[in-house]
Parts: sequence; C-alpha cells; structure tokens
Amino acid sequence: MKAHRTLLIKLPRDKCDVDYIRRLMALTNSAYHGFEIWEPDIPKTTQHHLYGSFMNYMGSLVFGTKPKRWFAETWVPLKTLRVYGDGSMKGDRSAPVVLDFRNNVIKLRQVCRNEPRYTVELPMPKWVVERIKEDGDVKYAMIGLKDNEPYLALVAEREVKPYQLSGYVLVVDVNSWKYGIAWGLIKNGKLITWRTERPGTFLINTLYHQAVDRERKAGKLRRLGYGGTAVVNRVRKQAKARRGKIYRITRDKAYFLASKLVRKALKYKALLVIDDMSEESRRELLEEGLPRDVIKLLMSNLRRFVHQLETLAQWYGVPYRFERLPSTVCPVCHHELTQLPGRTMACGNCGFKAPRDMVPMYWVI
Ligand SMILES: [Zn+2]
Repeated sequence: MKAHRTLLIKLPRDKCDVDYIRRLMALTNSAYHGFEIWEPDIPKTTQHHLYGSFMNYMGSLVFGTKPKRWFAETWVPLKTLRVYGDGSMKGDRSAPVVLDFRNNVIKLRQVCRNEPRYTVELPMPKWVVERIKEDGDVKYAMIGLKDNEPYLALVAEREVKPYQLSGYVLVVDVNSWKYGIAWGLIKNGKLITWRTERPGTFLINTLYHQAVDRERKAGKLRRLGYGGTAVVNRVRKQAKARRGKIYRITRDKAYFLASKLVRKALKYKALLVIDDMSEESRRELLEEGLPRDVIKLLMSNLRRFVHQLETLAQWYGVPYRFERLPSTVCPVCHHELTQLPGRTMACGNCGFKAPRDMVPMYWVI
C-alpha cells in the first residue's frame, strides 16, 4: 500500500510571477480536461512536462482520488529530481524541481517566472529530511496559488505494510475542545489507560474575552463617529489577533495530539478506532446555550485533527477504522441513557453509569 503526505511551502512572492503561475494553472486545467494547448511564449520544456508527463499523472494522486482542500483550482504537477548526499540521483534530470540533499536546497527551475533559466532556491525543509529517513520519497511536487499567494506542495510517498495487531485497541473520541479529545487504551475487555486532552482553557477564555471587549470598544467608537480612524482600526486589529491566536492554539494542539496518538498506537501495535462525534458535540454546545462564535472556536481545527490522524495512521501503517460509538445509548442493554449533573451518564434499566466521554470506550469493550 502506498501512503502519501503533503507539505505546503509558501514561495517568496517577490521572486514569483503570480500571473505566470496562474497561466500555468489554466494550462494544467485544460490539460486535465483533455486539451493540449501549446502557448508559443511559454518554454517548451515546461509544456513538455505538462503534456508529456500528463498521462502519468492522470492516475496519480495529483489528479487523483482525494483532492486536497486547497485544490479548488488545478495545481501544476511537477516532476522532481532527487540528488542525495552520496551523489546518487533519482528522477528526471530535466525536472523543474530539484531536491538537492548535498546542499540542502530545493531549486525551482523555470516555473516561478517566464524567463530562461530562471531559478528560485529554497532551504530544504526539515519535514523532507524526516520523510526521507522514514524511507519516503518525494516523487511529486505541485505549484499553485492559494489565496492568491504562490505555494509549492511537496508530496512524499512511501510503501507501507500495516502491522500485525497485538489485541490492543486505541479508541479516540473527537469531541469539542470544551470537553476535549478523549482516548482510551483497551486490552482483553479492560480499559488500561484513558485521558481527555485539550488546550489550556484558561488562556483561551482570557483571549476570547479580550477579543470580545475590543470588538465592543470598536463598535462603540464607530457609533461615536470614529469609524475608519486609526484608533478603531488598531482596536479591531487587536481583537482579530486574539481570535487568530486561539485558532493557532487549537491547531497546534490538533497536530500535537494526532502525532502523540499515532505514536501510542504504533507502540502497542493497537487497532486505532476513531469516533468522530464532533457533530453531536456541536449540538451539545448549542443546547448549553453557548454563543455561536464560541462554539466555532471550540470546534476549530477538529476536522484538521481527524484528517491528520488518518494521514499519519496511513503513513506509519497503523490499521484504523471509523466507528460511531454513541454516548447516549447504554452499551450494556442499549437503553437510552440519562445525563446526570457532572456529565455522568446513567442507565435507568440496568444501572450502568459512566462519565459521558467514557461511554464510547465501553462500547468497544
Ligand atoms: Zn443499560
């Protein structure tokens, strides 16, 4: 089985001709629809790469089964040449993307600007070196625009064999950040360890209230006739920065947790069971009467977490599956559970009792 991981690198805007990249994307898009258009002013080599290698790309992940979220437009697929530390090479010698591990640079030839021999050099990201150490190979790259900024996407590929399961099961329950992401390690019908993970809520609360305060202040100033002035703009900027910081905190936590949980699964050779109950959690937060913008922040980056968890599981060969494990139905007798204070769930029929976030673990047991 082949696994893939992608890294996005922002390209220096002053060294890239955004209009030229947009033209290449348009050509790629028509190539994707089966048209071959030869533009006289675009280097032949670049167009050869587009049409010559196009058939190879048709079945590949570039135009493949799972379009990445940033592929609202067609990105330009590029071949890569890999030059390793011992001088050995892999790939096409005339490839527009050169990964040079001797000098630790990435060279982009003739794709950032329509000038003969125009080359942009980037430092080699640590990410690439790590993937190579894990027997990965960066065979593909793509260039394109995201929010009108030029980016390079590097796609690492690796041949994986999923491991033999040891009997351990790692259940991951995706809630909102308010109650956190719950996980439990189960063996032979016993819950061995479990935890709920979430970012520090104190900092998030503080930042949120600071943001709301500043938004109110800006509104007040606007109503007093100061709209559009430097003061109002500064206050609004401060509010935006605080909301952005909350978003970054949940994003970092999402990436950190995905990596931690996949390493845990690897260590125990466990089956990874992912219960994505974020929709149910959203409803729970709505029922609690939280404002919509708070709910949005408490749910931010959860989809990214699930996506990263799945990507890492595939990359490291961790067998996984998605399963809906209801937290409002009794895992013993399938009766409806009632919620007691403190988010404890209780069954009126058989007497089962557990914290709400633990109920899914009992379903697995
Ligand atoms: Zn019951």
